[in-house]
Amino acid sequence: MSVLSKEIDGILAREISLATPYERKNAAGLLRMVFLIPFGHAFSLMCNGPMGLHDLINRTPDIPAVAERALQYDCLVRDGNRLTTPDGEPYRTIESPRPVNEADIVGVSLINSGDLHSLLRLLDLAGIPRRSAERVPGRDPLVVGGNQGLADPEPLADYLDVVAIGEAERSLAELIRIVHAHRRTGGGPLLQELSRVPGLYVPSMYECDLLPGGGVQAVRPRSAAIPSAVHAQYLKVGDLHDAHFVYPITDGTAAGVHPVVGCLHSCHFCNLGVPPFRQAPLELLSSYIDRLEHHRVPKIIISAPTFTQYRHRQQLLDHIRAYADRAAAQGRKVTTIIGSIRADEINADYLDAVTELGDFGHLFTELHLAQPRGVITIAPEWAAPDLVALYGKTQKKERVDRALDLCRTSGKVNTVMLYFIIGAPGERAADRLAVADYARDVHQRLGAPDANVIVKLHQFMPKPGTPTQRLRMTDPDLVWQYGEQIEDRLRALVGEREYANHYRVEQFPTSRMHLEVICSRGDRRIGHLLEDLYDAGTDLSAVTKDQLVQAMAGHGLEYKRHLRHMDDAVLPWHILNHVNPAAEQELAKALAKREAAS
Ligand code: SF4
Repeated sequence: MSVLSKEIDGILAREISLATPYERKNAAGLLRMVFLIPFGHAFSLMCNGPMGLHDLINRTPDIPAVAERALQYDCLVRDGNRLTTPDGEPYRTIESPRPVNEADIVGVSLINSGDLHSLLRLLDLAGIPRRSAERVPGRDPLVVGGNQGLADPEPLADYLDVVAIGEAERSLAELIRIVHAHRRTGGGPLLQELSRVPGLYVPSMYECDLLPGGGVQAVRPRSAAIPSAVHAQYLKVGDLHDAHFVYPITDGTAAGVHPVVGCLHSCHFCNLGVPPFRQAPLELLSSYIDRLEHHRVPKIIISAPTFTQYRHRQQLLDHIRAYADRAAAQGRKVTTIIGSIRADEINADYLDAVTELGDFGHLFTELHLAQPRGVITIAPEWAAPDLVALYGKTQKKERVDRALDLCRTSGKVNTVMLYFIIGAPGERAADRLAVADYARDVHQRLGAPDANVIVKLHQFMPKPGTPTQRLRMTDPDLVWQYGEQIEDRLRALVGEREYANHYRVEQFPTSRMHLEVICSRGDRRIGHLLEDLYDAGTDLSAVTKDQLVQAMAGHGLEYKRHLRHMDDAVLPWHILNHVNPAAEQELAKALAKREAAS
């Protein structure tokens, strides 16, 4: 048996279905859709986009396809940027030994705009031609992309045949029906038909006039039959599939729920506030927790940054606690991990319920701190209250303080993670340094001798589709220096020993940020540039600004142009852009005024 088959057998032996049972489809006459998930097995199970759609396709009789998953298996061999299978055997899915490149449709979920090049790696691994124009209908799969990394899909416009915008439960099902009908009966041009499905963007149906240095002058549909705008799809709770709210499969070690989708607030810099706010039915989540108990799953992830807004949070936490208590009585430990929360949405009941869970922590955090007990994550975003307000966040400092007081009184929270944004327009040097003071004050407010404060610094990265989308960015190398200044100040404020024992300042590596700068607002040329770098063997996880500047020059692109305030009449993601220009202008003006007042 091959190494790959052995690994897949291991995966199948570990997997437990947590979804309600369904009858397996007979694949004869149906399409084969493969989700390429660029993660190892444990992490792939947390990817609710592809995992939910995989479950939906397989359990819905009138979607004429079966779905499979192909992962970044542990046994794959890395050679520079490329991944290959051991012994040259075909790259296959968990569900079938058939090669991935024999699929009819391939779906790729791209979470982060700094990781778009992973599409190239996955297509190469599968033996699928990278560019849409090189793929032959009937021989090669249709390649469909989705998720937040494609908020500006233009860098991959020549590589993805279709991009699903927003929630894909309906649009992908419709795509499958159309492709299936085409296979059976032929018909008009497939891509043209797909471009008329609400929520599907077909880049090749649009023509762009590119500007020197970067950006576009105009974007036009190639014919009158193509829509001039594409709107993200957001569905009603009843139309969202159950697996949108719960992980459908576990490997026995962890499982999770998404109690809410969207946010009640709409901070200008955040795209979580763009979709309407929706809540999972309590019954769905409670019965899911019961299944986790039945299978003795020891770790529960509540992966919604807006969990405090969930109407039934108390009941859900009580339900989890009852499971944790029963497990504890049998000598087993159940841990709950909760995403970041709005400090002004914490109240005493919430904190009691959370702390009574026993072990709780923060998503994906490796603490490496002495005696971490309870961990909560709060996102003040900026230390200056007026900057917080200018960016549309309604969370007030007093409310954060009150939340910290509650943490102190409870005695069960000793570690607070603070999320701050740096390098944003409107920000002044003093605002950045004040982050250090803020962290020190939080530590003092927590009071306990073993209290810890972790400061996570995020570079301001304007998100397409939000009122900040046109704002200027700061060079990530400079932002890194800002981060170091904050750390230095914090060390000076609290002393080296205290810092070493109770504080940490973290920021993202600059190479990823440089890639995000150009990919989050780039045009179609950026994909070609990524392909060149990838082919030249440049390690894109460690790419430097100099390497990017040089490669961009070869495509007539300027790095700096991607940092600037985008005052262009047309943005690269024009077809998807529905932000109110008056709101954008008003925000930019207010920020410029604040900055000038320094
Ligand atoms: S920053 Fe937080 S509160 Fe604001 S919209 Fe995003 S998730 Fe909601």
